[in-house]
Amino acid sequence: MIPAPSELRPCNDCGQPVLWTTTAAGKRLAVDAHPAEDGNQACYRVVSRSWVSRSLDGADARPLARWEDRYRPHVATCTGRPAVQEQLPGMIPKGMPSNVVRLEPRQRSRAGRRRRRR
Ligand SMILES: [Zn+2]
Repeated sequence: MIPAPSELRPCNDCGQPVLWTTTAAGKRLAVDAHPAEDGNQACYRVVSRSWVSRSLDGADARPLARWEDRYRPHVATCTGRPAVQEQLPGMIPKGMPSNVVRLEPRQRSRAGRRRRRR
C-alpha cells in the first residue's frame, strides 16, 4: 500500500515527504514515502490518514502480513539531520584522540631501565 500524497508531510530537517505512523508503543514514527525492500518497518493504513508501523527486527517479530508493506524509518535516510555531536574546534589534538594513551614511549623507557640494570 502506498500513501496518498495528501497523507505525506514534509520532513522538518530535509523537506522530503514522509509518512507519519503510530508504533505499537503509541509513539510517532516517520517513514519514507515509498515502500522499500530493505525496510524494517511493517506499515499499513488503519483508517484514512492513519497508519501504523511495527518493527520487523527481532526474532519474535511476526512476518510481514499481506496487508502490510515494508518501509524504511525516515531517520535512516534523512539527509537534513544535524550530526549527533559535532567536533568542537580545539578540543581534539592533532594526531591521537585525548582519551588514547600512547604506550610506545613508556615501553621503550621500561626496556631502557631493564638494559641499564644489567
Ligand atoms: Zn528528513
